[in-house]
Amino acid sequence: MNELASPTTLEAEAAGGLDLSRIRSIDGIDVHGKRVLIRVDFNVPIEGGVVADPTRITRVLPTIAKLAREGAKVIVLSHLGRPKGTISADTSLRPVARKMQELMPGTTVRFIGDCMGEEVRRGLSALKPGDVAVLENVRFYPGEEKNDPRFAKSLAEHGDLFVGDAFSSAHRAHASVDAIADLLPSYAGLLMMAEITALGEALENPDRPVMAIVGGAKVSTKIHVLTHLVARMDVLVVGGGMANTFLLAKGVDIGASFSEPDFVPTAKDIMARAKQAGCEIVLPTDAVVANELKPGVAWSVCAVDAVPPGAMILDFGPDSVADLKRRLGAIHTVLWNGPLGAFETAPFGEATFAVAREVARLTKEDKLVSVAGGGDTVRALNEAHVAADFSYVSTAGGAFLEWLGGAQLPGVAALARSGARAAA
Ligand code: ADP
Ligand code: MG
Repeated sequence: MNELASPTTLEAEAAGGLDLSRIRSIDGIDVHGKRVLIRVDFNVPIEGGVVADPTRITRVLPTIAKLAREGAKVIVLSHLGRPKGTISADTSLRPVARKMQELMPGTTVRFIGDCMGEEVRRGLSALKPGDVAVLENVRFYPGEEKNDPRFAKSLAEHGDLFVGDAFSSAHRAHASVDAIADLLPSYAGLLMMAEITALGEALENPDRPVMAIVGGAKVSTKIHVLTHLVARMDVLVVGGGMANTFLLAKGVDIGASFSEPDFVPTAKDIMARAKQAGCEIVLPTDAVVANELKPGVAWSVCAVDAVPPGAMILDFGPDSVADLKRRLGAIHTVLWNGPLGAFETAPFGEATFAVAREVARLTKEDKLVSVAGGGDTVRALNEAHVAADFSYVSTAGGAFLEWLGGAQLPGVAALARSGARAAA
């Protein structure tokens, strides 16, 4: 063990936890002439053989451009869609390589129609320092999702070092995310490092008081997150359909609202844990209700204990939004996953949008550190035009949620392991 290991490092290792400080960044390493395998998340929407939304590509472009500028032969690995081990045209990375070439006009970007074997060897032999090669979808081989060490070895053969830059895939123990990092000296790319730093600070060492806002449809999918958060947060706001199950647990008659009665004991347990940990749980006191969830439906506002029979809670009401905005004034860090209401259908996105605008305003005024993640959450923030004003918006849905729930992400742990081995 490293003599310089701090007590917290030792504790983390003893507890089997991962020591994130072991993760090495690509800053300052010599990559000139080296074959650098980089795992990214190019799981982008493809429509008619063209990339429909390049966000995921542009987020990792700085890492790829930096490596290329420093003279690496950059070899890009990714998955796309769920081909489940079969080759199909609509899950090929060829359109992504074409898009990358468009985004990097001064760089040679090649596409190689496989990710292991002879075709790759031949294609890569033509690479010059500063060139980029995009290999075909790693999920065309079943070994990828099985974290098969032999498959990892056939990928690792093409590189001198490995860079993990797919935080949004880091919750998957897959060969090109996890096993490969045990075969090559491994580093975190710029996006991975930014995600780990932003999320690590907000969750492990936040400027207090810290509030989490957790919404979305179901308690059943986010229990582990709620249980973990009550031990760490000063305030936990429960929104969305999840709030209904908590209201039910408090004996409130919620009319025809969606809820999960089987999870009432779970909600009670979470409230008891919160009380013990000194975390205040905030639920809505009023709601926007309607008899159906569809556009143009008649809606009204009522107290949560006065929902008309046949009506459903579909969003926080104006009093609850005002209360939440007032509370935000005293908060220094906010972590947000899950919308407060059924935001896809007007007017049930109003609470989510209003609170998002308030968080954005306080962040811009330097009064708040705000970190958000989750597929639908990010969609809602984009709809409210405030994503750019948050301190950090994670590219990850599943991985962000796992992280909030205190899980060790295989793709992050693998990089820490590689760093620890190098330091030993
Ligand atoms: P994320 O993708 O950000 O993790 P989730 O997938 O957990 O978020 O939740 C988003 C979904 O929750 C949205 O489709 C939204 O319509 C739904 N939702 C939020 N509030 C309610 C509600 N009161 N009733 C029904 N669905 C809701
Ligand atoms: Mg979702």
